[in-house]
Amino acid sequence: MFNQTNTWTHALVLIVSIASTAMGAHAQETPEVQSQRVSNSAFYVQGQSALGSAENQNYISNAGFVITQTSVVVIDALGSPVLADKLVQQIRKLTPLPISHVILTHYHADHIYGLQSLKAQGVKVLAHRAALNYLNSETAEQRLAASRHDFAPWINKDTRLVGADEWLDGDREMQIGGVKFIIKAVGPAHTPEDLVVYIPSEKVLFAGDLVFRNRIPFVGQANSQLWMKAIQTLLSFDTVAIVPGHGPVSEKAKEDMQQTYNYLAYLRKAMGEAALNLDPFEEAYRTTDWSSFDQIPLFQFANRMNAYNTYLLMEQELKK
Ligand SMILES: [Zn+2]
Repeated sequence: MFNQTNTWTHALVLIVSIASTAMGAHAQETPEVQSQRVSNSAFYVQGQSALGSAENQNYISNAGFVITQTSVVVIDALGSPVLADKLVQQIRKLTPLPISHVILTHYHADHIYGLQSLKAQGVKVLAHRAALNYLNSETAEQRLAASRHDFAPWINKDTRLVGADEWLDGDREMQIGGVKFIIKAVGPAHTPEDLVVYIPSEKVLFAGDLVFRNRIPFVGQANSQLWMKAIQTLLSFDTVAIVPGHGPVSEKAKEDMQQTYNYLAYLRKAMGEAALNLDPFEEAYRTTDWSSFDQIPLFQFANRMNAYNTYLLMEQELKK
């Protein structure tokens, strides 16, 4: 039994290392962080459409920033301190103004591991209070421990989880250097603590991970029903550009939000029927027609887990 377990463990390690070598070969060398203009004063940097790895320094999510008359407001902190340093360098190419605030859309690792670099700039960090549950959890510590291994040397023993300086309980409006920021609490959706940031003067919306573009969304433990409701809220904003949490900026905001919405709706429909009929997950997954989504990047990686989590969620909902 012992040997058998060992053999399996070895086989697993081998598969994982082959898989990561294969992905490593595709990943770019040390990623270049390059800011792009979204509107007059809003910019963003776009993470790779890939899994986090040591090769890409965990550069898989976006971050945004807005240059006001007096300071710079950053939205999200990227997936490692070195990336956040690169973000600061990009900002410095455009303005010498201090970075005054960082608003976090949520506390997933790829959006917050860079936070300590920004803290060193003397910023004030704002996030939704609901993130405290995760931040104080063992899961967060375990995740960081795993990341120190997976993303070494970019995530290492000096990398730490950083809390907010101000925990928001709901929506907030701020006027900074002549620019109005509307922070809207839209969770629980992708996470309990989801915030989106809207700049009405430029009709730009930083949507965090409520909107995924060019890749299959990561559903995780999210409540997809509430997530769909939150997307409806976002559709009510008057936007010319949406900066998603992952993928390129969108000028077809409604269409893109609709895509995330449709995917969640489809998962719920397919897995909901299976749960209702008491079909085993494996069978339901195999017989579901995925052809509308299987061309989207990371489908192979994420769809099965998304479907499984949705199947469990639908079972729970049926019991209510
Ligand atoms: Zn996320």
